[in-house]
Amino acid sequence: MDKEFIVNSDGLHQAVDLMGRDFSNTEGLALPIQLPHVGMGSSAALNSLAPSILGGAARLGEATSFAHMDPPTPWITWAMTLWNASLNQNLLHPATAPVARQIEQRVVAWLAPFFGMNGGHMTPGSTVANLTALWSARECAGITEVIASGGAHLSIAKAAHILGLKYLSVPVDANGSMDATQLPTDLSKSALVLTAGATSTGAIDPFDLAGRAAWTHVDAAWAGPLRLSQYAHLLDGIELADSVAVSAHKWLFQPKESALVLFKDTEKAHAAVSFGGAYLATPNVGLLGSHGATATALLATLLAWGREGVAQRIEHCMDLARRLRDFVAADERLALYAEPQTGIVVWRPQDENLFDQVLQQLPVGSTSTTSMAGVKWFRNVAANPNADIDMLIATIQKVLPERA
Ligand SMILES: *Cc1c(COP(=O)(O)O)cnc(C)c1O
Repeated sequence: MDKEFIVNSDGLHQAVDLMGRDFSNTEGLALPIQLPHVGMGSSAALNSLAPSILGGAARLGEATSFAHMDPPTPWITWAMTLWNASLNQNLLHPATAPVARQIEQRVVAWLAPFFGMNGGHMTPGSTVANLTALWSARECAGITEVIASGGAHLSIAKAAHILGLKYLSVPVDANGSMDATQLPTDLSKSALVLTAGATSTGAIDPFDLAGRAAWTHVDAAWAGPLRLSQYAHLLDGIELADSVAVSAHKWLFQPKESALVLFKDTEKAHAAVSFGGAYLATPNVGLLGSHGATATALLATLLAWGREGVAQRIEHCMDLARRLRDFVAADERLALYAEPQTGIVVWRPQDENLFDQVLQQLPVGSTSTTSMAGVKWFRNVAANPNADIDMLIATIQKVLPERA
């Protein structure tokens, strides 16, 4: 028997022990230039890779981490990822994923109603979810054009390109939301994409536009999970959409690649994007061929935390963002881009000459940058419940020049 294919408790414990070690002084990736002829063995490989992989990684759960939409992940998802890797189910076939397929269906059934949708499936990200939704829109509603705001994610233009659809970008207002006055009047051949949580600014497009076009798709990759929280009302109107995309690997704290595409009429939407090869017992729905049991980690998290546990963490993140917003708004040396809507704070020094100097002195991983209408801004994203906002505020205060 080849022991590499059975549970090795010592080896797996070694991997977990290494996760607790401090490799922060490691530099670069020390690897053989060429494929080794003779292997070093799994235990040696773990020891050899730990300094680079663990030491060299961006630490998304660190107190300073407040820059991007990538959250830290709870340990239960690490356990599920381990089980997934060992079981290697393929959701393409009921025969190779009897339980895993049901788990995905259950997770989708739990979450879809929060968005007024009746089903859907998991995808490796909202890039694929957006493409799948617009593909369904083309098939089900005969749309020839995709309309989105200037703040929409690049995956929308990418989807239009792949699908051979025209793409119209509508200007945004001063808050970064779609300026509804700039929309064409005839939307009878259009898929209207409303963004819930624009990537740069966190802005929400006006949801009273939902249902006005031949197909309405909501890209809620970032802000979708607010539906499970006390901030659910911010996305009221989402239930009028025909499809919704949500990335679970953003504000649902899941390991990549985990997202959902949800539909109002799932039977019809799925039928439009299904293909059945002769060797498949059930039709293949959507873009993916072989794919793994991503839903198990999401299901385990939802089971462990409940809706309440998810809501608490998102609401805590919203508090962190509000505290940064309050600080920026109260300091005359700083400017706020707009009122933060979904946990993303966009700001800058009033004196734009200070931009680079301030950025250099902020902790690595604490702040990202974006640019709007030729102006550079700092951007903080509240994806990390363990972020230390007092420390970030204290650091900003320290690096700003004395008040005049
Ligand atoms: C992140 C993001 C996407 C893309 O999602 P992935 O999960 O990274 O593929 C799409 N739209 C918005 C608004 C996003 O923030």
